[in-house]
Amino acid sequence: MRHYFFDADGVLFRYERHAYAGLKPLYIQPNKHYFRDLKPDLKMLNLIQKLTLHKKSSDEIYILTSVPNNELTINEHRSDKKFSFAKWYPSVKPCNIIISVIPKPDAAQHTIGTRLSSHDILIDDYNKNLNDWQSAGGTGIKYCNGINTPATFSGTKINKQTDSVNHMLNVLLSIPN
Ligand SMILES: [Mg+2]
Repeated sequence: MRHYFFDADGVLFRYERHAYAGLKPLYIQPNKHYFRDLKPDLKMLNLIQKLTLHKKSSDEIYILTSVPNNELTINEHRSDKKFSFAKWYPSVKPCNIIISVIPKPDAAQHTIGTRLSSHDILIDDYNKNLNDWQSAGGTGIKYCNGINTPATFSGTKINKQTDSVNHMLNVLLSIPN
């Protein structure tokens, strides 16, 4: 069985540079509810629909996202992200939504109850997350979203600007289970 873990910011949802810019970025400001209005990535919307249809029944799809461990905003971030996930990705089971302050490999291992292996797949736009995941034994796939740099990750990549959704689906389904 394969476990597909999708990152949220920059993967399932569009990364908006302005929200993360400045000394007091918008996303971290209390009561602004930035994460309640996330805009979905249309290719990923399509990919999740197709993956849900074509995956094996024993495969699982997760959303794995981090929140800053900040007591002013942590509850707001959690509830706003849950809202956006349910709105745009209703096919992902609520119990498969992981919103965590600990490193992604640790959060995933806690959820699946075993150490990561090659059929535990993280789709992320951030090299550090991908490298940590691979060091922990999982398979990292970089989502090149047009903002990050494709060349800096040596593992498997999917590219928003040049790959069709069917190609991305084939990459995900070709990972041995
Ligand atoms: Mg990200």
